[in-house]
Amino acid sequence: MKRSRDFPSRVLYLVATPIGNLNDISPRTIDVLNNVSFVCAEDTRVTKNLLSYLKIDKELVSYHSYNEKEIVDYLIKRIIKEGSAALCSDAGYPLISDPGSILVKEAIKNDIIVSVIPGPSASLNGLIGSSLPCDRFYFHGFLPSKSGERKQVLTKLKSCPVTMIFYESPHRIKDTLFDLKEVLGNRNITIARELTKMYEEYIYLTLDEIDSLDFDTIRGELVLIIEGNNNKDESIDEKSLLLEIEDLKKDFSNKEVLKILLNKYHLKKNYLYDLINKN
Ligand code: SAM
Repeated sequence: MKRSRDFPSRVLYLVATPIGNLNDISPRTIDVLNNVSFVCAEDTRVTKNLLSYLKIDKELVSYHSYNEKEIVDYLIKRIIKEGSAALCSDAGYPLISDPGSILVKEAIKNDIIVSVIPGPSASLNGLIGSSLPCDRFYFHGFLPSKSGERKQVLTKLKSCPVTMIFYESPHRIKDTLFDLKEVLGNRNITIARELTKMYEEYIYLTLDEIDSLDFDTIRGELVLIIEGNNNKDESIDEKSLLLEIEDLKKDFSNKEVLKILLNKYHLKKNYLYDLINKN
């Protein structure tokens, strides 16, 4: 066991940066970027622009998926010697579909405090504005770019009972939506595009409606938020479930029955709640 409060005072800050609107930068983010010894950046040109906008002059060290393994030792030694560093990706949180996890692991191994400086997140912004359930969700990041592999992954996710979040690029969106429809069947889906930017838009539709979508208008950066499987068609039929509920209700309260069935089946809480309280 290790507790970060026992570590000496040297810190790796994981700094979230704007996903399109520079006004989303917080005073605390500016403070941290001003005070660290150096900044590790996914793309130094992007972070340089951000630092220039903030009028911060700081050494930038390139840290991306291609050199992650090679550069980690060097960065750890520098943080130990100089006391602090920040890690930024091009947008949003580092480590979320972006590099950083190797550095964080090594930092903790070397008793360096890891501190996250909060900021915008494309996945959470998209989810919260999607109108789909936010109480439980699954984040996947990017699906494979090849249709065959994409469909294999989606087949495994078909029974996922909670809202799912995917990143996608605008040039693959059409193929991905048709694969989603083919594998998952009809579901509610929200396309959240250009979040925090001038042309921010949420498109609320069902997968059956994608034929009528004008794909030329689906430009820019986007997040897909998809309804989880509400199970009316799968794994256990409703009749057997009702019998099981009836049986369980002889020994347990409705609340306890709900808990038992949520643990047993991948079924939605609202669906089970309605069945339990139906009779
Ligand atoms: N680290 C980032 C985060 O915390 O969200 C994600 C980086 S990932 C390489 C980039 C993907 O995030 C884009 O392809 C898009 O799917 C999503 N994204 C980033 N900015 C966005 C925005 N303003 N609106 C919608 N999606 C965005």
